[in-house]
Amino acid sequence: MSEYKHKISKSRFVSGIQCEKKLYFDLFRHDLKPKMPDNQLLLLERGSDVGILAQKVFPNGLDASPESFYDFSTSIINTSKWIQNGVQTIYEASFFHDEVLSALDILHHINNERWAIEVKSSTSIKDYHLIDASLQYWVMCKSGFQPDKFFIMHLDNSYIRRGDIEPKKLFKLIDITEEVKVKFDWVEQNIAKLKQIQQDVEPEKQLGKYCWSPFECDYMHHCWNHLPENNSVFDLINGRGKSWKLYNDNIYNLSDIPDDFPLTEKQQIQVNGIKYNHSHIDTLKIKEFLDEWNYPLYFFDFETIFPAIPILNNTSPFQQIPFQYSLHILTKSNGKLIHKEFLANPKHFDYNSNEDPRLELILRMIEDLGRRGSIVAYNATFEMSVIKNLEKAYPQYAEQLESIINRFVDLYVIFRNGWYYTPSMGASASIKSVLPAIAPKFSYADLPIKNGGDASNTFLSMIDGSFNGDIDNTKNLLLQYCERDTEGMVIILKELQSLVT
Ligand code: SF4
Repeated sequence: MSEYKHKISKSRFVSGIQCEKKLYFDLFRHDLKPKMPDNQLLLLERGSDVGILAQKVFPNGLDASPESFYDFSTSIINTSKWIQNGVQTIYEASFFHDEVLSALDILHHINNERWAIEVKSSTSIKDYHLIDASLQYWVMCKSGFQPDKFFIMHLDNSYIRRGDIEPKKLFKLIDITEEVKVKFDWVEQNIAKLKQIQQDVEPEKQLGKYCWSPFECDYMHHCWNHLPENNSVFDLINGRGKSWKLYNDNIYNLSDIPDDFPLTEKQQIQVNGIKYNHSHIDTLKIKEFLDEWNYPLYFFDFETIFPAIPILNNTSPFQQIPFQYSLHILTKSNGKLIHKEFLANPKHFDYNSNEDPRLELILRMIEDLGRRGSIVAYNATFEMSVIKNLEKAYPQYAEQLESIINRFVDLYVIFRNGWYYTPSMGASASIKSVLPAIAPKFSYADLPIKNGGDASNTFLSMIDGSFNGDIDNTKNLLLQYCERDTEGMVIILKELQSLVT
């Protein structure tokens, strides 16, 4: 057995700090661990692209990455040897002390100082980043390689790509030395506690807010299985403390909430709906709201990508870039329904391309959306913010785009405000819940691409060349998915109109 066999690593420490039982399951109950969804795997791969780019900020380092994730011996030995030989920069520098392992993204020496740098593909520092950095600081100190400074290097959301990526401008280096120093004893105490976890003793742990924070736990399907799958007290709209209070009083179903339990108006509508299977429809408010809309109605929906590393010129990390839209036009009530759509060419998503896909989209949008009539979106603030960004990229079209923004109305308002509630919507007012509740035959279940995340990842894989399916067929699936959103809005509106006229 390797002398460097570890019990605690950075990820295990973060897991154990969230919940000891979670760490126990990670270590000893692999049978409970769900398979990682494809979209999360893609996120990890894209995270490693960020890591490789970060190395360019500190170039020409030696790479101590292990050959196998299960054996860090060579990495630990090489790191120690290279530091002693005066190597200035080491990637994946690995340290070990008393069964605790830490692998650091970048170790750099400058002006007689040793810098520890952890790279994060986020645009800010999260609390859990400080937890894993503190563990790393502790291991480095204990193994005799105390860093003088500890940094988090994350993406800078004020960076705007202009030509080739400039790694030094893309990242922000934040000094967190004081924060990790302060946590030194806390880390030591928690390592001692987590090391006590034994295979034959499953830690006792009640459910708590930590089941979702900082990450939704992989084992909720196991620990939470005594709660009903639908309409549990945790589905109470904006339930928060009330859900926990009910749970701690052994009330698990929404239908079991006592009549005298204090609820907001929206919560009461939801609970009554579940208890007595009745819908709440405020026809007056819905009518007043819909009366403000002007024909022709343009039902509009974007799909976007938001790459961590900007792909196009004049874009920033995680900026929402539209690549597709669907538009249904209803010329008048009970009038003709026309469908229009746009899907960009993934090959144009290249900062060197002469054809910026956003420009093509802007021109088509201006033409398709005409000059008058309300533009209906579901959660319109999203569409409006995407168009605002287009205005910044192409100010010559700002006036036309601004007049488009001013025509938006939001179908979501009716459901968010609880003017229409039917029990099969559950706790959600999203179109994915509302549409099947209103038109059960008309859901997303039959579509291969079922949500915006899938659409975005599919298109991103076409851009970066990792897509290996049938490209024409998949483009049709993307079009089909986006069309369902706008067609769904038409169906929802017709249902609402049938109630108020
Ligand atoms: S679901 Fe909650 S209690 Fe169960 S392991 Fe996860 S965090 Fe711990």
